[in-house]
Amino acid sequence: MSAIEKNTTSLLGLSKKDLETFFTNAGEKPYRAKQVQEWIFQQRVQEISEMTNLSAPLRERLSAEFHLSDMTHVETKGSADTTRKFLFRLHDGRYVETVFIPASKGLNGRQSDRKTICVSSQVGCAFGCKFCASGLAGFTRNLSAAEIVGQMMMVEKITGDTINNIVFMGMGEPLANIKNLIQSLEIITSHWGLNIGARHITVSTSGLAPAIKKLAEFPVPIRLAISLHGATDDVRDLIMPVNKKWQIKELFESLHYWRKHKKQKISLEYILIQGVNDSMEQASILAKRAKGINAKVNLIPYNTVEGLDWVRPSEEVCYAFRDIIAGAGINTTLRLEKGHDINAACGQLRLKKETAEGIIPAPVKAGR
Ligand code: SF4
Repeated sequence: MSAIEKNTTSLLGLSKKDLETFFTNAGEKPYRAKQVQEWIFQQRVQEISEMTNLSAPLRERLSAEFHLSDMTHVETKGSADTTRKFLFRLHDGRYVETVFIPASKGLNGRQSDRKTICVSSQVGCAFGCKFCASGLAGFTRNLSAAEIVGQMMMVEKITGDTINNIVFMGMGEPLANIKNLIQSLEIITSHWGLNIGARHITVSTSGLAPAIKKLAEFPVPIRLAISLHGATDDVRDLIMPVNKKWQIKELFESLHYWRKHKKQKISLEYILIQGVNDSMEQASILAKRAKGINAKVNLIPYNTVEGLDWVRPSEEVCYAFRDIIAGAGINTTLRLEKGHDINAACGQLRLKKETAEGIIPAPVKAGR
C-alpha cells in the first residue's frame, strides 16, 4: 500500500517544532526531529526505512503517520537556452509545474552561478490575470507546504544541481495561500531545512494588499515582486482583475508598509502589451510610482499565450518605454523572457496536460 493510500502526512512540510512535538507526544526525545530532518534535507533519503539511526520500531511508527514526497515526475520540456520546465503529478492526479533556470552568462559576459527555480503555489489560480494561462481554467486548490518544498527537492534530484535562488512566480497566487507559503518559507530558509538565504527568495504577487502586510511581518528578509502591468487603475483593470478589489492606492499603501519592515528593494513587474499598457504616459506614471517606493522596474515584452491574443510591442516601443523610466533614475531592466519556446508562461504545460486528460475542459479565449 502506498503512503498516499495510507493517508499519511508528508514530512517535507513539517517544521522542526512540528516534528519535535510529534516525538515528544510519542514519548521520544525531541532531538529525533533533528535526526529525521538531516535524513530528509541533507542525506535526501527517499524512504523512512533508510533513516538508520532510528530504531526499527520508531521507523515503523513514523511510517504509520508520515511519508516523504508524493510527487511524481511526468514530463520535462527543455529549451535551447537550457531553461527546463518540469511537470509533476500530485497525489490527487493534479499537475503542477516548476521551471528550472540554470546559470547563464550575465550582461558583463561572466558566467553567473545562479541556479533558479520558479515554483508554483497553487493548482490553477482564481485571479485570472489576462495574460496568464493559469487563470484560464480557474482555481483548483492550494499546494501544501510539502508540495511547495517538494518541487525544489524534485528538481535538485532530477538535475543534480543545487538551487540557490527561488522565485514564487509559477502557477498560483502565493499570497492567496499565505499559511502554506509561510510554512514553506520557514522550511526553505531554516538551517535545519533547505538552508537557502532569504535574500535569494522572491515572492511575486498580483497585489493582495492585506496579505502583503502580513508577509511583511514574517521576520526573514525575502524579496517582493509586484505584478503591476498598469500604472493607473483604468489600465490595470484591463489586465489584472484583482485591481478591482485592491486598487493601486491601497496596493501602494501596503508597499510602504512592506518597506518599513524590509530593507530589500521591491520589484515592479510590468509586461508590455501593445496598445494596452505601453503608452509613454503609462511609462511616466510608472516612473513616479516606482520612485515613491524606491522600487526597481522589470519590463517584460508580452509572451504569447495560447488562447489569448494580445501581442508584444515592437522593440522600438519597448526601448522607448524603458528609457523614460530609466531616465527618471529608476533601476530598470528590459528582458527578453527565457523559455519562450517551452510554454514557460506559468500554467501552460499543466493546462495542456489536464485538458488532454479531460480533468479540465479546454480553455476558452479570454475576452477583454
Ligand atoms: S499571473 Fe499569477 S496571480 Fe495572475 S492568474 Fe497567473 S498565476 Fe494567477
